[in-house]
Amino acid sequence: MELKFTEQQQAFRLEVRAWLEQHVPAKPLQSFDTQEGFEQHREWEKTLASGNWGMVTWPKEYGGRGCNLIEWLIFEEEYYRARAPLRVNQNGIFLLGPTIMEYGTPEQKARYLTQMASGEEMWAQGWSEPGAGSDMAAIRSKAVRDGDEYVISGQKIWSTRAVFADWVFCIFRTDPESTRHHGLSFIFVPLDTPGVTVRPIPQLDGLPGFAEIFFDEARVPVSNRMGEEGQGWHIAMSTAGFERGLMLRSPARFQETAKRLVELYRSRANDILDLSIEDAVVRCYMDAESYALSTYQTASRLIKGGKIGAEASLNKIFWSELDLRMHETAMSLLGSRAELLPESEENAEDLGQWLDGFLFAQSGPIYAGTNEIQRNIIAERLLGMPR
Ligand SMILES: Cc1cc2nc3c(=O)[nH]c(=O)nc-3n(C[C@H](O)[C@H](O)[C@H](O)COP(=O)(O)OP(=O)(O)OC[C@H]3O[C@@H](n4cnc5c(N)ncnc54)[C@H](O)[C@@H]3O)c2cc1C
Repeated sequence: MELKFTEQQQAFRLEVRAWLEQHVPAKPLQSFDTQEGFEQHREWEKTLASGNWGMVTWPKEYGGRGCNLIEWLIFEEEYYRARAPLRVNQNGIFLLGPTIMEYGTPEQKARYLTQMASGEEMWAQGWSEPGAGSDMAAIRSKAVRDGDEYVISGQKIWSTRAVFADWVFCIFRTDPESTRHHGLSFIFVPLDTPGVTVRPIPQLDGLPGFAEIFFDEARVPVSNRMGEEGQGWHIAMSTAGFERGLMLRSPARFQETAKRLVELYRSRANDILDLSIEDAVVRCYMDAESYALSTYQTASRLIKGGKIGAEASLNKIFWSELDLRMHETAMSLLGSRAELLPESEENAEDLGQWLDGFLFAQSGPIYAGTNEIQRNIIAERLLGMPR
């Protein structure tokens, strides 16, 4: 691992910074968990794509810049530094995109990647079912082969922003005789397919950030399957590796929150009687920096041909718990004002987005596989303990 940036990397950083300074919207966009905010974010994705910044690690022919993972981390640092809008197509660009790159056919790469990087097509993830959350191998929704089509029946749940998205990537049971992780396949479904019904579910903040999706004999072509029939579990585990181990939550997101936490602490330092809060701020800052260093190490390893394995679970626990601690510390610093909604308060400059962030941080230990499940993985696969 090289601890200094090369001249070329520094020049890349300046190029990203200059472009973002010119293009990041001056006023924050509305939440992407509302129809209007979602469309505002889609426009922003298109703006990013117009500068070829949609997904910098992808090859140029798919709308990227052919950057390596270190350059991606630099891009992410500049992105959060500029306080640019969160990526509304994160399920697509951070999870499905890298998976298509590995398992998709040349036709699938050409068909889906450019549209994804340009924000033309937004993706939702449809894995969880009412009876299959942590125990994803219990999936029951099925896709039955009928000639050149699959006929899909069943239900998915907790699908983030599926209410507004264009497509969902799912795991369905294609072998009706199979059990557990055998006989599952990875299939893409346009959300406007006849027989597909999407119903919003409000999140903790009241916005329709989730949806349940019902499939009532919906038909999609067999060419919408990625990988071989029955290979779905194996491919899904590779997507989960990207999700937990690297792409979904880049360190810059937490470093930026840690910086804002320090600013908040400084603005309140004279009123703080409880010195343990000071310790908590310092700990959060150091942990965000440690997470960044550890991610640079992972990126260097991957560049040299390494793979993400069970250690992705360590990462996922680390960032989700750090996010919770940072927001809890901010709430303690804000004291009784912490619970005020910025939009309903006149002198709300100090409140920022802390309450929103605090509510969202509660979900970190649940999504991308709960932290209890990650601890099971660590115990069994990294420490070699019995089930
Ligand atoms: C913000 C957010 C966004 C999400 N987005 C999506 C999405 O886009 N697409 C999608 O498919 N899903 C999504 N999910 C769903 C998420 O993947 C599931 O909530 C998660 O996998 C847990 O499943 P469950 O809710 O059914 O809980 P359960 O599996 O029922 O678990 C309940 C509790 O039991 C614990 N538990 C279960 N089994 C074990 C075990 N073997 N050992 C120890 N503890 C155990 C769990 O850790 C948890 O605390 C999202 C969830 C959240 C919160």
